[in-house]
Amino acid sequence: MSTPYYVPEESIPLPPPDADVISTACDYCVVACGYKVYRWPVRGGKVGGPAADQNAFGEDFPVEPLGAWVAPTQHNIVLHNGEPHHVVIIPDKDTKHVNPRGNSSIRGGAIAQKVYNPQTPTRDRLKSPMVRMFGVLMPVTWDFALDIAAEVGKHVLEKHGTNAYGVKTFSYGYMENTYAITKYALRNISTANFTFHDTPSDVTSTPGFRDAGFDNFGPSYEDWRDADTLLMCGTDPYESKTILFTDWIMPGIQNGQKTIFLLPRRTAGVAYAEKNGGMLIDIQPGTDLPVVLAIARVIVEKGWEDAEWIQNWVNSKWESSSGFGQGTRNTPWQWRTTWGKFQTDGFEDWKKWLLEQDYAVPEKAAEIAQIDVEKIYTAAEWMAKPKADGTRPKTSIMIEKGFYWSNNTGNTNAISSLGIICGCGGRPGQVIGRAGGHQRGGLRGGSYPRNKSPEKLPGRRRRAMDTDRYLMSGHTRLAHVIGTTWVQAMLGSQSLQSKFDELTTRNPHQVQSYDKAEIIETLKKRADSGGMVVWDQDIYLVDPIGARYADIVFPASGWGEETFTRANGERRIRLYPKFYDAPGEAKPDWWIIAQLSKKMGFEGFDWKDSNEVLEEGSRRSRGSRKDFHPVKVAAHREGKTLHEKLGEFGTNGIQGPVLMLADGSLEETKRLHDVNRVLPENGPAGPTVFNKKLTHFNTQTGKCNLQKAPWSLFSSYWEWLKPREGEIWMTSGRINERWQSGYDDRRRPYIVQRWPENWIELHPEDAEMYGVESGDYVMLYSDRIPVQKDTIIGIEGDDFDFASLLENGHIELTEAAITAVAMVTPAVKKGVGYMDFLHTSQPANALAGRVVDWISGNYNYKMGIGQVRRMGESPYKKQLRSMSFARRDIA
Ligand code: SF4
Repeated sequence: MSTPYYVPEESIPLPPPDADVISTACDYCVVACGYKVYRWPVRGGKVGGPAADQNAFGEDFPVEPLGAWVAPTQHNIVLHNGEPHHVVIIPDKDTKHVNPRGNSSIRGGAIAQKVYNPQTPTRDRLKSPMVRMFGVLMPVTWDFALDIAAEVGKHVLEKHGTNAYGVKTFSYGYMENTYAITKYALRNISTANFTFHDTPSDVTSTPGFRDAGFDNFGPSYEDWRDADTLLMCGTDPYESKTILFTDWIMPGIQNGQKTIFLLPRRTAGVAYAEKNGGMLIDIQPGTDLPVVLAIARVIVEKGWEDAEWIQNWVNSKWESSSGFGQGTRNTPWQWRTTWGKFQTDGFEDWKKWLLEQDYAVPEKAAEIAQIDVEKIYTAAEWMAKPKADGTRPKTSIMIEKGFYWSNNTGNTNAISSLGIICGCGGRPGQVIGRAGGHQRGGLRGGSYPRNKSPEKLPGRRRRAMDTDRYLMSGHTRLAHVIGTTWVQAMLGSQSLQSKFDELTTRNPHQVQSYDKAEIIETLKKRADSGGMVVWDQDIYLVDPIGARYADIVFPASGWGEETFTRANGERRIRLYPKFYDAPGEAKPDWWIIAQLSKKMGFEGFDWKDSNEVLEEGSRRSRGSRKDFHPVKVAAHREGKTLHEKLGEFGTNGIQGPVLMLADGSLEETKRLHDVNRVLPENGPAGPTVFNKKLTHFNTQTGKCNLQKAPWSLFSSYWEWLKPREGEIWMTSGRINERWQSGYDDRRRPYIVQRWPENWIELHPEDAEMYGVESGDYVMLYSDRIPVQKDTIIGIEGDDFDFASLLENGHIELTEAAITAVAMVTPAVKKGVGYMDFLHTSQPANALAGRVVDWISGNYNYKMGIGQVRRMGESPYKKQLRSMSFARRDIA
């Protein structure tokens, strides 16, 4: 933890004209703004001067506001080839895409503070492999740690089976790493006990999009700008994807775009939209579905639907079933789309169903969501009412986690149907997609072995394993955790943590030896006794997964410490080159996995550098939204490596999927489902794949599935969960200043001073009820956090419905409590408390139920409940140095 006060530096050096210049992109949010690193040696004391010919920017200093100015937070000192070097890291003012004016958020604007420097709070980066002996994590050699990991790993696989080896990993930490990790876990170990950082199961995050035929990241950033009406559900991009808002959506608003937010909270982006004619539909958590369907109902009752689009692009029932054959539907997508609960026979059938649903009547929906019903009518008008000249408004829909992590299947089904009837999809300014959270760095090196998962829904429908429930049942004997805050990042996190305690630290088999063979035997005994061993691979030691539970810690290197590749939220693929030395013995994840794999006896991990990993994996990107395989082919034709070729695109990158044309040139893809795109008539050239989604949608016919979204599949959970006497909703999300768990931010003195602890926004009426003022410490607690405890085989249709789970004894009620600092503001809806989503020491997820959406297997993270008890005054209440209780919903 860093010091809680901030004294800014007053001057920093300018890069001299001969500084190295390296193009890269921001490491944080999905936007991935283009950056430049200026690097020059400390030795010799050379720095740039204020005259244009004396510095690398070619500018006379001082410059105009927003000129080539360098903030103290944008300078650091690193080791490069073992020699101290200055680095200045600033947004690229020459880039043509993403952040074309060289803008940045507070997160990326301070990214130079993330690089390792022993004189800064980054000094606690993991620098050597460690093994826990006598209760203490002690530095060891790579061979010592890897030998133990490999021997114990082989034993667990042989004695307890592949599913006993659990792998919980980031999904986005660069394609080179995710390819190596998934090749190891899915192709070689072949464990179904595998998932990513934000879900208990390896399942699609947006089942309704998948089933409708929409790619999550089809739109380009200019589409969000060019919409006449933009509905944003469950996100304020200003808070979490800042440049997407300031550089793309704000210009749209300034050009007359009507902007609608569906959120329980008025944020700065909302305030800006409202000031410029936009609207907030301030729902209570979990009630998106009735409101979305009510908007759709108004549209169809008025006859405002896009009839021509529907005529051309909506499947009939026969068409949505086509291509699946007879018998068991083997994938979730197949069984969901052909299951009577969702499937329709096209628009008229869907409309008939919609008009029969009482919760989709605007007045009823408004009552459930506790909103002004007029907002439903206004939204319908803005989204679909033809203009005076008969043309339709160009409407787009953006969703993100506040929406799809509150009734995961139902909300995504409902919004897909609203999008389809408004003609969203595949045309400039008329799109539907996710805004995104983190960047898109996934590359699959193996397929998920769903047939090994024990999860079965009624009707022989198999679903990916719930890794949390599997661990709670004691089946996971080895947990290999890679770059994720397992425990606090999952729901009902305090009871999950107590199980971790039981399986690890409270197991009698603890290492009390320095001898490698004895350590291996002890860890094997722990696994055999029903306990669990833990390997943790990360850049910092995280409490508790690393600090308390890990038997072995592998230090990983990250951004700027290895050459990596990743895409952003509009599929723009960029190279992130290495520009400095990783601390100590830290190694990239692909290297760690390769060494472990070889010691485990697996073949195919003899890569000599990260380029080789990506080159091997590139064919696995074929047909995907970030297909870059043609770039590799083009690179080899030019005698270059894939990394070299990607590096030539600089901060502009190349927008996937990439096609190779007959003359060998490369063509980018502005948007997916681009119904106006004309592909080369001679078919795909060279390595190119013409995936259907280039010009159509992701279904057998290429048309969309217009699906029902029954509230009843979710309402039993929502009705049971909704606040009772003395309770409020406890929801959570991001704020502008902090990224993810704050792993970098808590090492930035300014951010630590601004946000020293987790906080909760409370409406003034709720605050009065609890006797709380801004700055008070509060206890947030509940004794009814539901936890689904058993893995059952579904037989009857409603076996997994929450009411049935409760009735049949599969739900346990647990207790949870976290502390926070109260911030009283009318910006949050009455009856709702809002927190940062991932403070590791005050985890909001403790208060949300560990019960998955029973159709998809995802958690509904945004649906916590609890009570508030005043504990007393926090130190921030009266001393004004740290934290602020000023309103944030200002424009
Ligand atoms: S908007 Fe996102 S990508 Fe851009 S600078 Fe900020 S954190 Fe980085």
